[in-house]
Amino acid sequence: MTNIQVPFFRPALQEDEVNEVVATLRSGWLTSGPKVKRFEEEFAAAVGANGLTTKGKVHAVALNSGTAALHLAVEALGLKPGQGVLVPTMTFAATAEVVRYQGAIPILVDCDPVTLNMDLEDAGRRAQSRGQAAKGAKGKRKREEAAEIVGIMPVHVGGTLMELDQLERFAKAYRLWVVEDAAHAFPVGWRPNAEAPWQQRSNGSQSVTCYSFYANKTITTGEGGMAVTSNARLAERMRLMSLHGLSADAWGRYSSNGSWDYKIVAPGYKYNLTDIAAAIGIHQLGRAEAMRREREGIARKYREALASLDQIELPAEAANRIESWHLFAIRLRLKSLTIDRDEFINELKRAGVGCSVHWRPLHLHPYYQKTFGWRAKDFPVASAQWKRLVSLPIFPGMRDDEIDHVIRTVKRICKRHAR
Ligand SMILES: *Cc1c(COP(=O)(O)O)cnc(C)c1O
Repeated sequence: MTNIQVPFFRPALQEDEVNEVVATLRSGWLTSGPKVKRFEEEFAAAVGANGLTTKGKVHAVALNSGTAALHLAVEALGLKPGQGVLVPTMTFAATAEVVRYQGAIPILVDCDPVTLNMDLEDAGRRAQSRGQAAKGAKGKRKREEAAEIVGIMPVHVGGTLMELDQLERFAKAYRLWVVEDAAHAFPVGWRPNAEAPWQQRSNGSQSVTCYSFYANKTITTGEGGMAVTSNARLAERMRLMSLHGLSADAWGRYSSNGSWDYKIVAPGYKYNLTDIAAAIGIHQLGRAEAMRREREGIARKYREALASLDQIELPAEAANRIESWHLFAIRLRLKSLTIDRDEFINELKRAGVGCSVHWRPLHLHPYYQKTFGWRAKDFPVASAQWKRLVSLPIFPGMRDDEIDHVIRTVKRICKRHAR
């Protein structure tokens, strides 16, 4: 057996990023300045152009994390203590914690068994059961059941877009604002059906799409994020709150033509992106589609090589989506295996294959169980699916011998532990 180690992820940084960071350091402007402005403009053009976000003018606000983008989005939309927000249980910590930052209540929703994205039918049931359920509910559950639902925060798991027209109809029917957690969803594409042209999104005016540039995301700035909206008022509020709630565009405060004066108009946060980070982002953005194609190529190799295995199920694809392929999550057919998911992962690790699980659903975490009294049976699909999930390595720059090693290892584990 080859003695090869395949990491779960390796960032694809090139000389362009290195040179731009060095130039930024030499420029003497380290914090939010010209590079951030350029990154915002180019990102807005990219999501406006390839059909990710909105019709009309797109405002992009660069921030120091995707979590900050989510937080500022719900703050700008006026989320208040005690209000409810529909959040998928199948997501990362950030999506729900920003709701808690506002003192509001995440109303968890089960996932679709195929895409693992939020199940809108389940969301509808939970939205309709307000009121009656509150009367019957006790203790911790009562607080959740009584909350008025004001928004929805879908997550495009692994870079597989939700059906956007259904999402839009749902939000309209229930009069909800939409904050999309698009941490995995760049670049992506969508059309209503397989024959329709790839299209621009027509988000309602009460919506924000949030991206993450964390180290292992599809493009990175080390740490960073972007909030994108077609609503100028929301964009302005997010910008204000990203820098202490200072009135003027205080970014120019230390430049020769900036003013020394500022006024605090709200108790804001310190969420601005640095020019050092934006210097990396500008070049990552320039290669975003090329890197997506590389991941797509790896996904194709995995699909071809692993399709014949009875012990695993491969991720679904649809003709009306261009996938970002942030993740390649296989699902184990536990009845065809003598080992469980954790042991499967141990075997991958022993063979030098880095992997991960996306995710332990929120309702199975101690904080949320203690605070809201959620149980596994409240979200049967997510509770069952997460025990089958394994994310395999997929990243641009992954070498053929690394891809082959992952394929060989998965095949070997399946064969050895076939029931
Ligand atoms: C990474 C991630 C985030 C948070 O992004 P950060 O930039 O790390 O704050 C939010 N949601 C999902 C689904 C993520 O994967």
